[in-house]
Amino acid sequence: MATNTPVRAAVAALLVALPAAGLVAQTAVKLPKNKFTPKQDVELGLEAAAEVRKQYPIIKDEKIAQYLTALGDRLVATAPAELKEPVYQYSFTPVNLKDINAFALPGGPMFVNRGMFDAAASEGEVVGVMAHELSHVLLRHGTANITKSQNPWLQLGQIAGAVGGAVVGQAGSAIAQGSQFGLGTLMLRYSRDFEKQADLLGAQIMARAGYDPRALAHMFETIAAESKGSGGTPQWMSSHPDPGNRTVYITKEAEALTIASAADVSQFAPIKATFKAMPPGKSMAELERGNASSGGEEARTVGTPGRPVPSPSAQFRDISGGKVFQASVPDNWTSLPSKSSIKVVPENGYGELNGQTSFTHGVEFGVTRPASRDLQEATKGWLNAVAQNNPELKLAGEQQAVRISQRSAIATPLVNPSPLGGQERIVVYTTFLSDGTLFYYFTVVPDKDAGAFQDVFRRITASIRLTEVR
Ligand SMILES: [Zn+2]
Repeated sequence: MATNTPVRAAVAALLVALPAAGLVAQTAVKLPKNKFTPKQDVELGLEAAAEVRKQYPIIKDEKIAQYLTALGDRLVATAPAELKEPVYQYSFTPVNLKDINAFALPGGPMFVNRGMFDAAASEGEVVGVMAHELSHVLLRHGTANITKSQNPWLQLGQIAGAVGGAVVGQAGSAIAQGSQFGLGTLMLRYSRDFEKQADLLGAQIMARAGYDPRALAHMFETIAAESKGSGGTPQWMSSHPDPGNRTVYITKEAEALTIASAADVSQFAPIKATFKAMPPGKSMAELERGNASSGGEEARTVGTPGRPVPSPSAQFRDISGGKVFQASVPDNWTSLPSKSSIKVVPENGYGELNGQTSFTHGVEFGVTRPASRDLQEATKGWLNAVAQNNPELKLAGEQQAVRISQRSAIATPLVNPSPLGGQERIVVYTTFLSDGTLFYYFTVVPDKDAGAFQDVFRRITASIRLTEVR
């Protein structure tokens, strides 16, 4: 067995240099409000993890997997007993992606990217990020995020089945991408307050496991530097926003903690060498593009875009979306529920075209968290989000004040290049639900078919009833 004398000596020196250690109390970290049970955390997490394992390049190397599990087990062992729900099912899975990222799902499953190891200067840095992620699990931040959300669509029954795809990324139509309220995003995008809590609890757990918490602060500095260098926002930063002063408060917390006898870090260098010897990993962006072109999460299609679209049936049937709305749609159209939206499309209106999922004909209903309480502003915010994925999307006339289910709404006419060539016409309707959520509905049709779809769109639009319980 390898020894780690120099590290022990270094940590011992550090403890000597910190006379305040143990005198200042560590910060008390509390569980936030949560309407879910720990068992529901586990169910959600396991379902999402199964989906992640299907879609992410999981590293099968036994040595790496065992090493990561040993690190994770050590952290779980030293985590506060009162936060460790017996139902939790911890797992620690290495992922062959080069982005510096790690994430944990409710109830225990954790995924650590290879990029995290490549960027880490010491084992303590990887352990720090894992302790931070474990803290999100123990504090149940994922389901606390859902608890906090105002989205009436999110009832557990509907969450099931929507989680995995949302975690993995969107592969839907371009316009839907901007509008979808991804559950993975909701669950894994933490507030600055949750971030700070995970940092503090993470620091406490790492200290008890024999690592200096300042390694966590250093890893965050590395991640921040990386994001500046690349010019983009790495996935880590978009789901774990910087609460500010991270280094300062982690250092302060570290001074209040007693670091247990140093962990054996002799495996870190050989593991890094094992990674180096492997062929390069993909980036998340490459993975998402691959998933999109191979069907990805929205594998369901309705025929093949470009083939003739049959006339809408004169017979209509009723559909409903959660407790939010009811509407009537042609009975030869197909409903595609996903996350917090439902598309209803005719044959050949939604499917693969030139390796891309394309939504050429039909309607979509959905809800989203508004950027403002003002309908005009909230609509603008939603359209801006959609435009990010549709850079050529343009207004095609004046916005109009209309009514949907007796409520004030805005109709926005737009044009966009159609995946079939030429232009497509889109009309977006937006209104607020009574809890302040933005309800949207849009119609999409290529210019050449606009006349043939005019009546059916008018009839669907008039049929919408908002049925939320007030
Ligand atoms: Zn975090």
